[in-house]
Amino acid sequence: MSDPNAMLLTANLRQLKLPTMLAEHDKLAREAAERDESYHAYLLKLTELEVATRTANATAARIRAAAFPVAKELDTFDFTATPSVPKQTALALARGEWVEQRRNCCLIGGSGTGKTHLATAIGLSLCRVGKKVRFVTAAGLVTELEEAHHQHRLDRVLATLDRLDLLIVDELGYLSFSRSGAELLFQVFADRYERRSLLITSNLPFGEWGTVFQGERMTAALLDRLTHQCDILELTGESYRFRESMQAKQTRPDRTTKTTKAKK
Ligand code: ADP
Ligand code: MG
Repeated sequence: MSDPNAMLLTANLRQLKLPTMLAEHDKLAREAAERDESYHAYLLKLTELEVATRTANATAARIRAAAFPVAKELDTFDFTATPSVPKQTALALARGEWVEQRRNCCLIGGSGTGKTHLATAIGLSLCRVGKKVRFVTAAGLVTELEEAHHQHRLDRVLATLDRLDLLIVDELGYLSFSRSGAELLFQVFADRYERRSLLITSNLPFGEWGTVFQGERMTAALLDRLTHQCDILELTGESYRFRESMQAKQTRPDRTTKTTKAKK
């Protein structure tokens, strides 16, 4: 790169913090000259590369910040195993209009029916369309809120949660909370009402949420807000984990029998 203009351009792109353009401008300029491309076409290509890298980096950062426990996608979800959840419904949730409309979503079903998988896949997809998402378990969120409360920084934590377009609360119902824990969780849910979306997964039908929230009045008030504008999906059927391990047992040759046979 002996051209002094090219060297000055390099310095400017560095100062302007445009790393992809910095890395690519020289190569693209040579290619453009060879193909006799217009100045506009060259600059457009160069800026497109910078925009594409920035978009990809921002998506990766949103996915990291969402803290999904395991990456699970919709294309690995077997909808024939969960006939109660039509694929079209899941695809619509993954597009995210419901989040723009500040609606909620509840996935209710027994253990192993795919609630966490579906919630993660929807969350990942929303990160890709630019939404700020966070995945927490109900127990993890309550612990975080209680700690923040004791350390006098609850307001800060609540403000951070408030900036999320979607808060995914997984596994509501596996553990019940103390009265203060339940109140803190109620505060988060109530604060989001009609302003920000929630996606809740639970093994408990709504009628049993009183056992988690201790107190019929708080449960009723919470369910009233949560389910007002809400897509409720029930995941019926047997546990996918159980199904898979049963299938594996049926197809796997039984080692003990083999050994016994070999001895004979
Ligand atoms: P839940 O949260 O309802 O207990 P998970 O979503 O954790 O269940 O599912 C348990 C395991 O089974 C996970 O590895 C998940 O990827 C898988 N799984 C569950 N349902 C399905 C499905 N319909 N298609 C593909 N994998 C599934
Ligand atoms: Mg789960």
